[in-house]
Amino acid sequence: MDRLAADGIDVIRVAYPDLIGTDRARDVLLEHLPSACDHGLAFCRAVYHTSPQGDVVEVAGGLDAGLPDIAVRPDLSTLAPLPWEPGVAWCLGDVLDPATGSPAPESPRDLLRHVLAQCTEEGLTPVVGPELEYFLCDPDPGSPSGWKRYAEAPGNVYTAGRRGDPDGHLLRTLRQLRDLGIGVSMGNHEFSPGQFEINLTHSPALDAADRAFRFKAAVKELARTEGRLATFMAKPFSDEGGSGFHVHVSCRDGEGRNTFDDPAAPHGLSATARHAIAGVLAHAPALTALLNPTVNSYKRFGPDTLAPWLIDWGLDNRSAMVRIPPERGAGARFELRLADASANPYLLLAGTLAAALLGVRACQEPPAPLEGYGYDTTKAATLPMTLPAALDAFEADTALTAVLGKGFASALLAYKRDEVARFQQYVTDWEFTEYAYHL
Ligand code: GLU
Ligand code: MG
Ligand code: MG
Repeated sequence: MDRLAADGIDVIRVAYPDLIGTDRARDVLLEHLPSACDHGLAFCRAVYHTSPQGDVVEVAGGLDAGLPDIAVRPDLSTLAPLPWEPGVAWCLGDVLDPATGSPAPESPRDLLRHVLAQCTEEGLTPVVGPELEYFLCDPDPGSPSGWKRYAEAPGNVYTAGRRGDPDGHLLRTLRQLRDLGIGVSMGNHEFSPGQFEINLTHSPALDAADRAFRFKAAVKELARTEGRLATFMAKPFSDEGGSGFHVHVSCRDGEGRNTFDDPAAPHGLSATARHAIAGVLAHAPALTALLNPTVNSYKRFGPDTLAPWLIDWGLDNRSAMVRIPPERGAGARFELRLADASANPYLLLAGTLAAALLGVRACQEPPAPLEGYGYDTTKAATLPMTLPAALDAFEADTALTAVLGKGFASALLAYKRDEVARFQQYVTDWEFTEYAYHL
């Protein structure tokens, strides 16, 4: 308390990730921090729509029980001053049931902890490096959405400096994220105008998820301070590619050695690495429900997109769903390219590591790695191509949902099936344009 006051901090923003990965927060005056730590902060137990209307979606124990409290206890190990908001420090919270003090089943941080505990039993200590893409938008009162792509022309992949980023957004964001302690290493212009990628350093899985969660919230918040919109939705524009959320995954042993590396094994990958990759391939259809969580996500998939649509792996092959980057030794790892940027980082890592764990437990072997072009449907099975199909695959994959926990699986299915139902009721602009005139 004294140190925070001496640093000029008088407000603590306590944020927790909800089921869809949105940061939900309360701003707490410093003098009330001790009681928040003792009792937790009261939030109502609900999951809200992604839409600005923010209606409540039914999850068991939420609206049906009269919207009771959940308690969010600040995790002070995550406290960090917000560089762009003087006087405010930001802190993650853990979601507890106030009656029992035990984690709430829909708490994403606890879901990941639960999977990591099972990894530990198997002797696996996962290390993760996230990379995220997003689009930056400027206000456009004339367009139906109210937004247009930032810097319409002429940015392309790796376009340097002001040519693709006339207002210096990337540099400013990188520096703010560094000052916040997110652990970013670099950023670049992506393939589409107004699209950027920022890479995070690798670290143990829970820390990597915490940083990716804060990263998304911080980038969105920074963009709003500039009057802009940063969006991590999977495919915001029909005429451009989507935004991926690639994760680089390896495992360490007790001495910090990379257990995915084995110079004597085929491709230099250890048996653990092969089993983990096989597990991810085997559970990929179910994983899409977590890694590609919106109706929009499936518009990112397709041939020649650099996003996958087949369930395959390849050696330094960006057209495969699982790519093995060329480094070995300490850098031996797989890059899972399946997730899009809209994924909740905790659910993405919990699902991916659960699938890898199942592969290791069963000593599963992957097929031969893909050679060449990765979008040939004669070589591999396709991913689910709609959210309803993904949710059905998730529900059917009882091995995966057993690792994740039944409480979580049913909360996710309830939330996402409600989203699908709302979408199916909604008449889109495309339908009017396509049908209204000629039919
Ligand atoms: N934007 C692509 C995706 O949606 C990835 C492009 C890249 O490899 O950087 O996954
Ligand atoms: Mg990229
Ligand atoms: Mg990548």
